[in-house]
Amino acid sequence: MKKTMDKIVIENLEVFANHGVLEEENVLGQKFLVSAELEVSTRKAGISDALMLSVDYTKVCKIISSFMCEHTFHLLEAVAENLALVLFANFEALNGVKITIKKPWAPIRMHVDYVGVTIERRWHRAYVAIGSNMGDKLKYLEDAVKAVKEDVSCRIIKISDIILTEPYGPVEQDDFMNGCIMLDTLYTPSELLRFLQKLENDANRVRDVHWGPRTLDLDILLYDDLVISDDELIIPHPEMHKRAFVLEPLKQIAPNVVHPLLHQRIRDMI
Ligand code: ATP
Ligand code: CA
Ligand code: CA
Repeated sequence: MKKTMDKIVIENLEVFANHGVLEEENVLGQKFLVSAELEVSTRKAGISDALMLSVDYTKVCKIISSFMCEHTFHLLEAVAENLALVLFANFEALNGVKITIKKPWAPIRMHVDYVGVTIERRWHRAYVAIGSNMGDKLKYLEDAVKAVKEDVSCRIIKISDIILTEPYGPVEQDDFMNGCIMLDTLYTPSELLRFLQKLENDANRVRDVHWGPRTLDLDILLYDDLVISDDELIIPHPEMHKRAFVLEPLKQIAPNVVHPLLHQRIRDMI
């Protein structure tokens, strides 16, 4: 998702907090310096000079400060990771964030200006095919959508209509209900796969017959413009361009999205 690269910058916000591996650090506390680069489109706000169109950095500083003080983590990595989630949850307009957390008083018995951690996180646009052909099919699909919606690392942008399709492949089985969702996710591709597989397991999916009947099947079709293949994950999904039950719902929500290997729009692939 190549959006704008405008940035709002906060440099070395000072907070006194209790993060650290040593018990003394958790009890006595120490100084932390937090820097954040917030990737937002500042153009509309820049043209109209209206705060509501951007990210309010006073509010950002207050949220960072109270987050830092109200929690105690061992690792700066964990502080940064969780702080990123809090910022994404609070600012809809935030596309990406770079967070640096420094400890100028790190208890290492040597002089350093600081030790610190920097992470960069952003929303990634993904398309996921959803399908079911066992039990209360619509309920399995609805529950899956609900679970995705409730996950802090995902936000659903669009959902297609659910279509009824005849089974595909060699196994004799009931008709399918199929659909597609467009979502933004903070997960990496393999984290997203694991999350979706957990939802399949929660739906009591049993993996016995390949391409056999299932309560819930969640396949990653596209993830940004990424092209990958390893033992557990192939993106774009290798069969998507051949399957009407994938392309029809996908076309409804993303007709002009381009397949990164075939260089064709979804609407032209049907
Ligand atoms: P198909 O992938 O042809 O639709 P299926 O959905 O029935 O078949 P599953 O049994 O659900 O296949 O999944 C088999 C394996 O496919 C999973 O364990 C997963 O590791 C792997 N896989 C590879 N690429 C993807 C992808 N893009 N999305 C989901 N799973 C994938
Ligand atoms: Ca599938
Ligand atoms: Ca699958």
